[in-house]
Amino acid sequence: MSRPFKRILLKLSGEALMGDGAYGIDVAAVDRLAGEVKAARDAGFELCLVIGGGNIFRGLAAAAKGFERATGDYMGMLATIMNALAVQNGLERAGVDTRVQSAIPMASVCEPYIRRRAQRHLEKGRTVIFAAGVGSPFFTTDTGAALRAAEMGCDALFKGTSVDGIYDSDPKKNASAKRYDRISFADVLGKDLKVMDASAVALCRDNNIPIVVFNIREHGNLARVLAGEGTATIVTNEA
Ligand code: UDP
Repeated sequence: MSRPFKRILLKLSGEALMGDGAYGIDVAAVDRLAGEVKAARDAGFELCLVIGGGNIFRGLAAAAKGFERATGDYMGMLATIMNALAVQNGLERAGVDTRVQSAIPMASVCEPYIRRRAQRHLEKGRTVIFAAGVGSPFFTTDTGAALRAAEMGCDALFKGTSVDGIYDSDPKKNASAKRYDRISFADVLGKDLKVMDASAVALCRDNNIPIVVFNIREHGNLARVLAGEGTATIVTNEA
């Protein structure tokens, strides 16, 4: 059964751009992700993208080593702009019309975030990449993704990860971990399941935006999950 979504926000962590590397941006990985997005576009879905920055810099990790947190967070946000430009480049090579909008204005590099303008891009069939999270330190791109999903009227937030859904414990460490097909926001928060930041989950709960967790590393999986096939966990208010 096809899922009742038309416009979605796809959130990827910066690590999705690393490929098999341990840091930075791998062009082949970017091209593969661009192919996933193109297949979803070609199937008629409208897409917004938020890419993290963890493949380059994370403010919290730097703060643990003595760095000032806010400065580290601004550096992390700048990293997300680099990632957004890399993905824009991959998408345009794949023939997908794309705009980058940043929550930190950077006039000669990309557009500033303007909600109505982003809406217009989507109406014209462009894919919009939202960079720099919410534009403030002490947040993450998960929360940025939930916020933009609400502002853009997205029908769902798709979180692409390296596992095929939400488990009751880490499936990479526990062979008998159980995967949920559906789960409620209340259970995700109550059981402290590490799906997305709690603030992002709460924002989706309050705005009734389902979160779909799926494996982005499997070829063709975004289009498959959007078509209601493939394996994923869906988080809603009712589950
Ligand atoms: N960040 C921030 N405010 C935001 C979004 C991101 O300060 O609204 C910073 C924060 O330091 C974060 C880094 O940017 O660690 C990279 O983002 P994130 O950790 O969400 O990336 P991901 O884990 O998804 O790759």
